[in-house]
Parts: sequence; structure tokens; C-alpha cells
Amino acid sequence: MTEPILSLRGVTRDFGPFRAVDDVTLDIARGSITGLIGPNGAGKTTLFNVLTGALAPSSGRVSLGGRDVTGMASDRLFAAGLGRTFQIPRPFARMSVLENVMLAPSEQIGERLGGPFFQARRMRDQEAAIRRRALEVLEFVTLAPLADQAAGRISGGQMKLLELARVLMGEPDLILLDEPAAGVNPTLTRLLISKIEELNRQGKTFLIIEHDMDFVMQHCTPVIALAEGRVVFCGTPEEAQKDPLLLDAYLGAAALD
Ligand code: ADP
Ligand code: MG
Repeated sequence: MTEPILSLRGVTRDFGPFRAVDDVTLDIARGSITGLIGPNGAGKTTLFNVLTGALAPSSGRVSLGGRDVTGMASDRLFAAGLGRTFQIPRPFARMSVLENVMLAPSEQIGERLGGPFFQARRMRDQEAAIRRRALEVLEFVTLAPLADQAAGRISGGQMKLLELARVLMGEPDLILLDEPAAGVNPTLTRLLISKIEELNRQGKTFLIIEHDMDFVMQHCTPVIALAEGRVVFCGTPEEAQKDPLLLDAYLGAAALD
């Protein structure tokens, strides 16, 4: 077996006396589209926040590609190849779709070029390169026709595609998606799935939180279920569908959500 792209060992996150994520130990296989399910409040988003450096774990270790990244900040994780989208997309509403995509990596590049060796010419070249890459990525997610539109004026589904575009600017190996299909019409959901599968064929690994059981059962393997902060199931979609505990307690609850 190849080394997992992401490993969690005993990851726990407390909010005061409340344990939102409880001793999670998991390996995410490189090249997989892994689904993470569980009822509302199970701790899925909190786990994502810990994995992406938005929250520090209270205890436990996280490693990415064999390297310990526990407690590493989001921007460094992004640079190390881990991208994530948000359950509620938050673009800069007044900036254009293109500008929102261009923002993703420019901070890092600006940082690298900063200090006394800063060169205006190189900065302009960099900006042109970022613009070209952003247009390419927008083309890929089919948002190129909306490049000049204010990001606050595109639909909820288009915002999910914009989020994916921003993530792709970092050329991540591992992409975490938080409820990509929520509030998205079926046509855009199908488009999003085809883009995920195309990226997966190119070698990218996905970890996807999703309530839509058809989405998870058709496109994710393995499926991991979380309940009250703990992993209660890990297996294929076929196994998940035969698991009575999962069917009753978790799939039922999630489907109603
Ligand atoms: P899920 O994404 O599975 O619906 P969350 O990770 O959002 O669940 O939440 C898990 C639990 O942790 C919930 O009970 C939630 O109220 C609690 N929680 C999440 N974030 C915070 C926070 N910042 N402060 C306190 N409690 C939180
Ligand atoms: Mg959530």
C-alpha cells in the first residue's frame, strides 16, 4: 500500500467542555475521492478546520504526505498542497470573479518577491502569469464568461465553482470540499462532479463532506461516517448501504438534514 496522503492520529478538538472531534484516527488514501458523512453537528466541519489549519487540534497529530503538519497555518498548508473550500462560500463580493481567483496565490508570490530585492518588472510579469493561470482555471470550471462579473452577483452554484477555481490556483494534491452540492442545482452539481472526477483522474485526491447521499454513494470511496465527533464507519459505499447502524442512525439523519 502506498503512503496515505493525509494521516490523522488521535485528533481531538474541544470547545470549552464540549468535545466536537473525539480521537479521530484515519488515513486518506492518495488518489481517492473519500466521502465524509454524518448528521449535523457530528464535527465534520470542525475536523476540516483542524486539517486545514483554521483551528488547532486540542490533541493528536496530522501529517500530510508523511510530513507532520499539526497546527500549521492555512497559508502554509495551501503552499504545501492542501486546498479547501468552505461550506458557505465567501468571495470578495465587489471584486470580479477573475480578481477573486487571482487573489488566491498572489499573497504568497508577493511574499517571496518582497523585501529589498523587490522588482517592479518581475512583479508585472508575475501578475501577468497569475492572470493567465486564473483565466485557465476559470475556463476549466466554465466560469470564464463571468470573469468580469462582480463575485457577489453570481449564483450559489457558481460560487461553489469559483471556490474550486481559487483552490486550483494553489495546484493542490489534496482538496477538501465542504458540502459542494448543498444549495446547488442539479445541472451545476453534475458539472462539479465531472470536474472533480477529471481532476481525480489527473491525480488529485479529494476529501468531501456531503449530505447528498446519492452524491456520496455514487462518487466517493471509501465512505467515512462521523457521529458525535467519532468515526463510526469506514468502508465502501456498498458496505455503507448494508450497514444497519449507519442506515438507521446516520444516513437517515443525514438524509433529513
Ligand atoms: P458538522 O459540520 O458535522 O455539522 P460542526 O463541526 O460544524 O458539525 O460542529 C460540531 C459541533 O461543534 C457542534 O455541536 C457545534 O455546535 C460545535 N462547534 C463548532 N464550532 C464551534 C465553535 N467555534 N465554538 C463552539 N462550538 C462549536
Ligand atoms: Mg458542517
